[in-house]
Amino acid sequence: MCQSKKLPQVFPCSQCGLCCQQVHLATETSYLDRGDGVCRHYDEPSKLCGIYNERPDICRVDLQFDRTYSKQYSWDEYVVMNLIACEFLQSQDTQ
Ligand code: SF4
Ligand code: SF4
Repeated sequence: MCQSKKLPQVFPCSQCGLCCQQVHLATETSYLDRGDGVCRHYDEPSKLCGIYNERPDICRVDLQFDRTYSKQYSWDEYVVMNLIACEFLQSQDTQ
């Protein structure tokens, strides 16, 4: 069997910042809520994570795939599922 090297997994995030503004919606991220649903580490001017290199494991899509979802899904399937959630948040965005 071919022992091919694992390709780097890069989630195609458009950096809209919307998931970081809805951390109250998931049990795993609600502890990050600064009080209005927005993560306390979210940098509003840049729409980026203020602690990106040290962000919690739950915020790491690639790590969550390797740890849990790779048992059930291919990377491509996992990306599609996550993008559906991104698109839902973007469709609800009124800003
Ligand atoms: S909602 Fe999706 S596209 Fe937007 S920042 Fe989060 S992961 Fe990236
Ligand atoms: S820690 Fe960073 S990546 Fe995670 S929700 Fe907060 S701003 Fe977003």
